[in-house]
Amino acid sequence: MEQKQGLYDVIVAGGGVQGLSTARYLAKLNVKTLLIDQFAVPHTRGSSHGKSRNIRYTYDKQHYCDMMPEAYRLWSELEKECGQTLLTKIGIFCLRSDKLLMEMAASLKKLNIPYEFLTGEDGEKKFPGFKTGKFNGIYEQQAGVLNADKCVCSLLESFQKLGGTFKQETLCSVNPIEENLVQITTSKGKHFAKSLILTCGPWTNKVLKPLGLCLPITIMKTNIIYWKVKNEDCYMSSNFPLTSVGEMASECYATPQLDFNGLIKISYHHGVEINSPEEAFKPLNEEQSALEKSQISLLKKYITEHYPDVIATEPSSIQPCFYSMTPDEDFILDRHPRYENIIIGAGFSGHGFKMAPVIGSLLGDLALNRKTKYSLGPFSIKRFKDKEELISSIENN
Ligand SMILES: Cc1cc2nc3c(=O)[nH]c(=O)nc-3n(C[C@H](O)[C@H](O)[C@H](O)COP(=O)(O)OP(=O)(O)OC[C@H]3O[C@@H](n4cnc5c(N)ncnc54)[C@H](O)[C@@H]3O)c2cc1C
Repeated sequence: MEQKQGLYDVIVAGGGVQGLSTARYLAKLNVKTLLIDQFAVPHTRGSSHGKSRNIRYTYDKQHYCDMMPEAYRLWSELEKECGQTLLTKIGIFCLRSDKLLMEMAASLKKLNIPYEFLTGEDGEKKFPGFKTGKFNGIYEQQAGVLNADKCVCSLLESFQKLGGTFKQETLCSVNPIEENLVQITTSKGKHFAKSLILTCGPWTNKVLKPLGLCLPITIMKTNIIYWKVKNEDCYMSSNFPLTSVGEMASECYATPQLDFNGLIKISYHHGVEINSPEEAFKPLNEEQSALEKSQISLLKKYITEHYPDVIATEPSSIQPCFYSMTPDEDFILDRHPRYENIIIGAGFSGHGFKMAPVIGSLLGDLALNRKTKYSLGPFSIKRFKDKEELISSIENN
């Protein structure tokens, strides 16, 4: 068939950090790969843009801890290949209840990762300009910051150098022809491949709906927020680590001055629920706007309590970004329940950047029917609904 002359082994739809990592992994294996994105890559309308994403070894779930040594190794490999510094190790100082600190210490010991236990008082001495409240903390030196924009550009550059094809095209529809053949129609034409990988971030359900599937992913508009510091020497990344404190730790986090001089990033790990990513770029409705204001007020209170040398009156810069949240905040890495050669990587729940190179290898291995290095049990679609139930709801659609 004439159209199938350009048959690819794998098409990856979605060129955020997950799609790029997946496409690069496949290209490294000499797999003929097409990557498409609706926008030019890089862009600022998805989840993967910005100057910084945190990376650390410790996690409260073992299946993520297991991936972290490999994630560090793969980022370092990409750095060498592209001759760019992508990861800056500045450490993280986490202040928590003593019970949680004991658990963190146990998990760091198990992984053989160096750390320091600091009382609140010691922490304030070590990091002037920081108020620890009533909390003690653990300082994990090897944590750091990935430059998200540079990571995205390096992944694309590497993918293309390895012979991969990138096209700026919007995926409009998917036609699963047979077990080993799928056709996609894009804004610019048709393409065929043996397998299709969907890494469409907050657009995932829009793409899956015509394939009869709706995953429990909540789209949140969150914000990357920067604040002015009173004194430029304070909160420099050379002497101030990543920080998060106590009861607010799961909600607020701070990245010292690294991205822009004189500005510290202090943001929250939540946002405002929206129905489609496009909504984030229009004025929010009254209810959403009130919620966003209250979240920023809470952030100001957090700053006043813990970062006395930050001007907490108004943010200097606010940039929207998306979280694609699953109910348990675990990722979705699985096959479409009905079409085995359609693979889905979604629901990265605000914490998937650091592991992207590992995720790319897992999605790539699924597409190639290779054994995956880690168990995909925690990431299966079946955890939301029984497979049979999913297929029958697809067939009744
Ligand atoms: C503010 C913020 C802070 C974060 N902090 C951290 C952190 O500190 N550490 C960490 O590990 N993670 C963090 N994360 C999470 C991490 O950034 C995300 O998990 C990751 O970026 C998700 O990448 P993605 O490729 O799945 O999605 P995206 O980057 O959104 O990519 C999806 C892509 O698909 C494309 N697309 C969608 N539909 C179509 C279509 N029909 N046709 C063609 N293309 C399409 C889009 O244009 C987009 O480029 C943070 C996220 C945010 C927003």
